[in-house]
Amino acid sequence: MKKILVTGGAGFLGSYICEELLKKGHRVTAIDMADGKKIEHLVSDKKFTFIQDSVCDLSLMKHQMKDMDMIFHLAAIADPLKYVTNPLNVMEVDLLAAINIFKIAAENKMKIVFSSTSEVFGRNKDVPWSEDDDRVLGATSINRWCYSTSKAACEHYLFALHKEERVPFIIYRFFNVYGPKLDDLGHGRVVSIFLKQFLNGEDITVHGDGKQTRTFIYVDDAIDAVIKLAFYKKAENQVFNIGTPREYSMYEFAKIMKKVGGFKSKFKFIEHKKVFGKGYEDIPRRVPDTTKVKKCINWRPKISIEEGLKRTIEYYRNRK
Ligand code: UDP
Repeated sequence: MKKILVTGGAGFLGSYICEELLKKGHRVTAIDMADGKKIEHLVSDKKFTFIQDSVCDLSLMKHQMKDMDMIFHLAAIADPLKYVTNPLNVMEVDLLAAINIFKIAAENKMKIVFSSTSEVFGRNKDVPWSEDDDRVLGATSINRWCYSTSKAACEHYLFALHKEERVPFIIYRFFNVYGPKLDDLGHGRVVSIFLKQFLNGEDITVHGDGKQTRTFIYVDDAIDAVIKLAFYKKAENQVFNIGTPREYSMYEFAKIMKKVGGFKSKFKFIEHKKVFGKGYEDIPRRVPDTTKVKKCINWRPKISIEEGLKRTIEYYRNRK
């Protein structure tokens, strides 16, 4: 039994991670600014504590991190619209707070499990990306890159902490994880935005020409890898891509959602600039090479896009 702190524990991935850690018998404390709706099924567990507060509060973090064995650091602002509308806040949380938390973790000799992002690779055209592939980013005047840069700086910091102070870590780069409890409908990422539009019978807002691609991984498959790797000694002090290699254009993806959900909406193409204003740049293709995670823990994603979307749509339909 370990004592584990999960920042962002009431968020999408965090809530699933808390649940799995509790199932494994660990004592879990979650810190999150969000309300506890996604973890309300866990609060009666005596091994679970939820603190609704900010990870930017250094004295709170120092206090909560005393006597902990391990931290899963997931708390972050990960909404593309916020990268351009509120970049300062993105960097306060995703960069400054994270580094402070890593310092405290190092003082307390905790293992750090860090949730990074596929955004780290930027718009490198040479897909699929393996973990050591180049980062290709735009100018610092393009706000979109503040998220990628914050997460990458955190990764550098963890490599340095390990090199100079032997602090153990593991880094996950997530490639568009989706599933029930993702975001509030209509907010955040493409899946919840499209889903709200489909459920309301509105037109689907495909950005640009819809040819930009993403890969998608169902949350259960991602969490399976996360938990296995976090407790596997041989995976320590490394980075892992967590995703699937099947690439979908956004137009194609929207059409699959329409078919799976039996929806009637029409598609409308809308310029990125109209949605994001200046300071945004899209990533034309995003595809992981997942050889490393597959080999390391003998892992394979099991849920097809159709099955994953079916479960996600059902969840939101029932909630509506
Ligand atoms: N996208 C879209 N319509 C929307 C929302 C997003 O076509 O209403 C596109 C977006 O421009 C991007 C892709 O879907 O090309 C994935 O966007 P998401 O917000 O999920 O985040 P990202 O993968 O870019 O981090």
